[in-house]
Amino acid sequence: MSRIRSIRFEPLDVPLIEPFVIAIGRLDQVRNVLITVTLENGAIGYGEAAPLEPINGENQATVLATLQTLRPLLEGQDAGEWRRLSGLMHGLFSAQCAARAGLEMAILDAFTKSLGVPLYRFFGGARDEVETDISIPIVPAEHARGLAAGIAGEGVRVIKIKVGTRIEDDVARVEAVHEGAPDCEITLDANQGFTASEAVELIRRLRERGISVRMFEQPVARHDFFGMHFVTEQSRVPVAADETVVDASDALRMAATRSAHVVNIKLMKSGIVEAMDIAAVCRAGYLGLMIGGMIETRLAMCCSAHFAAGHGGFTFVDLDTPLLLAEDPFEGGYQRVGGRYLLSGIRAGIGCWPRGRPSGFL
Ligand SMILES: [Mg+2]
Repeated sequence: MSRIRSIRFEPLDVPLIEPFVIAIGRLDQVRNVLITVTLENGAIGYGEAAPLEPINGENQATVLATLQTLRPLLEGQDAGEWRRLSGLMHGLFSAQCAARAGLEMAILDAFTKSLGVPLYRFFGGARDEVETDISIPIVPAEHARGLAAGIAGEGVRVIKIKVGTRIEDDVARVEAVHEGAPDCEITLDANQGFTASEAVELIRRLRERGISVRMFEQPVARHDFFGMHFVTEQSRVPVAADETVVDASDALRMAATRSAHVVNIKLMKSGIVEAMDIAAVCRAGYLGLMIGGMIETRLAMCCSAHFAAGHGGFTFVDLDTPLLLAEDPFEGGYQRVGGRYLLSGIRAGIGCWPRGRPSGFL
């Protein structure tokens, strides 16, 4: 019986190794929510909601309040009808994306544990691993150089650099990373910090210095569609839409107007079912696929790794935030080798559970 017996949720607070600074905000501690779904058959699913207030206004309190309202609507329902349940949640709480994503995650984890199938196989089994980049936030250039050398030393091959402040500072930071890790490929993420002409100027200055950029994420404000189109046309670098695309219709717009080359899909922005629809639109519209996340622990990142590996075709993978955390509250999950996350050892579901609690396998 895959009927939902109970849904529980609680704060998931995890300290960061150091404050995380990007163009739109600063985070000192991760304040996420852990969701536990238990089915009548005894399977237990775990989900994580990772709200990021500067992105969409959700925080731990709004997630807990949303879950409180959704719980009685979902208890007693069949986890096997996860698309219908997702539609129900979306209809009521379309803006509460992280809360919905966490619930979908816990429901799918429990359901695929009932089936005895690892989540990446449930999503299609295209691959059983992904290879992530590692990000360097907005820090002084000298610090960035040291971080880059450390990342390269771990065997990671792509470094994502946060930009979107003063162009001079951004150029200095990117140059320092390039010197610290000369063999690593570089991607940039401006988190909406530039005007379109500033974005094109940054790429021009980097090119002048012999630094090539593999991809440039969200150069301009999320609703600046013309700006996205301008940078896509003018910068001669693949441009990824992140904050601009939260649902399938946004992705369709990017494809139809050729305003990006790539879409960064995040479960916390869209929910899992909507993310599946975004991926389908991207394929049909010849947009490249990227998977990313908010500031998430190993549980949600592992779910995203299942999503990207199972669907296949994700050229850009940015699932490194567990490395920013001072503690790891979970057991199981992917096996990390350098930048690679291997899923082949996972028996069923996401395969990741809170330390000291039941794994939830049947
Ligand atoms: Mg981004």
